[in-house]
Amino acid sequence: MDNKVFCLRCNKEIEYKLIETDTHTKYNGQEIEYKRQDAICPNCGAYLTGTIPALFDVNFQRVWAIVRKGDNKDEDSNN
Ligand SMILES: [Zn+2]
Repeated sequence: MDNKVFCLRCNKEIEYKLIETDTHTKYNGQEIEYKRQDAICPNCGAYLTGTIPALFDVNFQRVWAIVRKGDNKDEDSNN
């Protein structure tokens, strides 16, 4: 899988690292707790999520799955 993006801080193309962060957001006034997938630069630690459109999809799907279930319980999703 190609996971190279350009890191502005390093000023070069790097292979990003995926991390999971516990976070929350609001959707239709509902507080949603979920694990957000972020991409960071392994060299400088900069967040590169904004430069990777695919991650928006991943995170949107995670939020949406919770919204559809109608609760925000973190079910055993350790994988
Ligand atoms: Zn960097």
